[in-house]
Amino acid sequence: MDAPLRAEAYVDLAAIRANVAALRGYARDADVMVVVKADGYGHGIAATARAAVAGGATWLGTAVLEEALAVRAAGVTAPILSWLATPGEPYEDALAADIDLAAYAPWQLADIAAAAAARGTTARVHLKVDSGLGRGGAQPHDWAALLDAAARAQADGTVHIVGVWSHLACADEPGHPSIELQRKAFEQALSEAERKAVRPEIRHLANSAATVSAPRTHYDLVRAGIATYGLSPIPDHQTSEQLGLTPAMTLRARFALVKRVPKGHGVSYGHRYVTPDATTLGLVPLGYGDGVPRAASNVGPVWAAGAVRRIAGTVCMDQFVVDLGDATAKEGDDVVLFGPGTSGEPTAQDWAEATGTISYEIVTRLGTRVPRTYGGLEGIA
Ligand SMILES: *Cc1c(COP(=O)(O)O)cnc(C)c1O
Repeated sequence: MDAPLRAEAYVDLAAIRANVAALRGYARDADVMVVVKADGYGHGIAATARAAVAGGATWLGTAVLEEALAVRAAGVTAPILSWLATPGEPYEDALAADIDLAAYAPWQLADIAAAAAARGTTARVHLKVDSGLGRGGAQPHDWAALLDAAARAQADGTVHIVGVWSHLACADEPGHPSIELQRKAFEQALSEAERKAVRPEIRHLANSAATVSAPRTHYDLVRAGIATYGLSPIPDHQTSEQLGLTPAMTLRARFALVKRVPKGHGVSYGHRYVTPDATTLGLVPLGYGDGVPRAASNVGPVWAAGAVRRIAGTVCMDQFVVDLGDATAKEGDDVVLFGPGTSGEPTAQDWAEATGTISYEIVTRLGTRVPRTYGGLEGIA
């Protein structure tokens, strides 16, 4: 048997698979794209992509091209859309790997078309309209120019317009008026495309939050990220459990040292924690160098010695301390920072609330020093 690990992020691929199946239920007639950007939100891109396909995802989505190529390198053949690029992007690599590309502006479409012409192939493109997020995509007043460029590239055979798409700003606040306004702006963009004879097979707008709470935004395909990993996209309204989702990642470590200290002892850099009594301290070998937020100093919850306890003092680069009171513990005992929450341990959502962020950041920021280990592999190619 392998030596027990100092720390690990254990990922239950059966949970990812089941979450995707649950999302297919929410999506009904729409297909499900699983978003695996940023190393599968920290869960590992290759394993996540395979589990997603096993769960019924018919598309995968990545931000940058390197991620899409990594999915292909893992042997996954499902359609992939990659949507964030800069001038000079190696589009020929994308075309060679059969990756769909997003275009936000005519210059980008021209770059893609040039790469397709050079390879003697046709690029598959999804035109993005900015329906109100104010981030990527063409503004409504630039949309006609993008459609005209697309119609020309389609006519000369360098580009095939597969999709028209957009992204929501406030889907995590169900009922927010911007959701319906963005949907109407998206409809306008689709009508304009139709008038210019640009007829996408696939229209897509919804993220995880809209998948579970705004069916009118589903169109032909939903793009689900966070819900795939079992975390609630609408945590102010419904927990992951209420949504039928299971958090896939458990971050755990083993005590590197357990020791008694007297009352009034300062703990960790800056002495921001002082022991209220004689107590037992446990040293956990994880820190901000591993992605544990320094903002968790004195507030981060951990499951240790049979109870939820708070981090004592400052989170350091490689380690932090937990005050165990008079509980019994020894070196090598398990400490769980977060997991599905079914055995009393905190969740990534609890960590997000304790540190003033969102669960996305808690799982995605985990560093490369933490090995990812996998379970629930049955039936995943
Ligand atoms: C990250 C991302 C998603 C997935 O968002 P979730 O909230 O994680 O479901 C979907 N679409 C785009 C364009 C994204 O950047």
